[in-house]
Amino acid sequence: NAVLLTGSAPTRARFSFEVFPARSGAAALALGHAVQHLSAADPDFISVTYGANGSNRDASLDLLTYLRDHTDALPLAHLTTVGESREVVRETIHGIMNAGVHDFLALRGDPPRGLGEEDPRVAGSLSALELVELVTEARAERPPLTSVGRTAVAAYPNGHPLSRSRADDIEWLIAKQEAGAQFAITQLFFRAEEYLSFVSDAQSAGLRIPILPGLMPVSTSGQLRKVASLAGRPAPAGLEREIEELGGYAPELGVEHTVELARELLAGGAPSIHLYTFNRHEQVLAVLRELHLLTPDPVR
Ligand code: FAD
Repeated sequence: NAVLLTGSAPTRARFSFEVFPARSGAAALALGHAVQHLSAADPDFISVTYGANGSNRDASLDLLTYLRDHTDALPLAHLTTVGESREVVRETIHGIMNAGVHDFLALRGDPPRGLGEEDPRVAGSLSALELVELVTEARAERPPLTSVGRTAVAAYPNGHPLSRSRADDIEWLIAKQEAGAQFAITQLFFRAEEYLSFVSDAQSAGLRIPILPGLMPVSTSGQLRKVASLAGRPAPAGLEREIEELGGYAPELGVEHTVELARELLAGGAPSIHLYTFNRHEQVLAVLRELHLLTPDPVR
């Protein structure tokens, strides 16, 4: 056995996390505790969401700064353009970079509550593609020797509501790659095949950047319904029924489903997994423990 002879461990799959700014003081205390645990697991990065219309711009920046100053994790800033002018977006990018955060997830953003896709304030917003270009420009304007940073973009294995076809989604993702995106993170989905076939089609069409599958271990029936609406596909009937049978709250079933899904994805070639934490550490760390991705990991 080559591993035993050389003493080198096989490469472990990697992982990253998503958190969102807390909405109250008590939630902020709990989040501080959660991110300490998440950071101790040694993720590739922890991403911080951004509210439509810049609604939580300051809270988002505070959390990024907290991660930078009080954890060992690399912070990655989600940034959206909806409802904001090019000048405000440019200032926000520089504000985040001035805070020492250089990694971005460039997004168009969802329409703010009450506004439809056709509203000029939404339809007239910069696209994610233009935001990738703005981040690249902002990096070029910075003095040399600052951290380089990477730009991520969103990908939709089951299609974005605005796209007419998978080919349309893939073409758009490749345009984001050409504009400078270095990796993509997917919208939530339930079945490995949805991700694997999307990646395979995208690669055949010329995509070279890695696509990280986004996974969320759900705890409740309500969360399962929310994931189904984001995924654009119904939840697996068995999972839905089992959670209902346990009174609508079953965190261990969410962990079990995510572990199975992650195993299939990693076996199918996914470069790493991106876990939506819902600002809790217990479930996502249970997933990683089951997958033997935590160090030190008890040998079983
Ligand atoms: P874009 O890439 O600009 O466009 C979305 C889709 O529209 C494309 O996939 C394509 O199908 C179609 N499209 C648009 N323009 C064209 C074109 N010219 N040609 C062809 N097709 C086109 N939202 C938030 O508000 N805050 C967050 O922090 C946040 N985090 C997210 C994290 C991840 C991993 C994901 C997947 C989504 C996140 N979202 C967030 C939601 C996201 O903002 C919405 O899904 C939004 O509707 C689309 O954003 P986008 O960056 O994918 O947009």
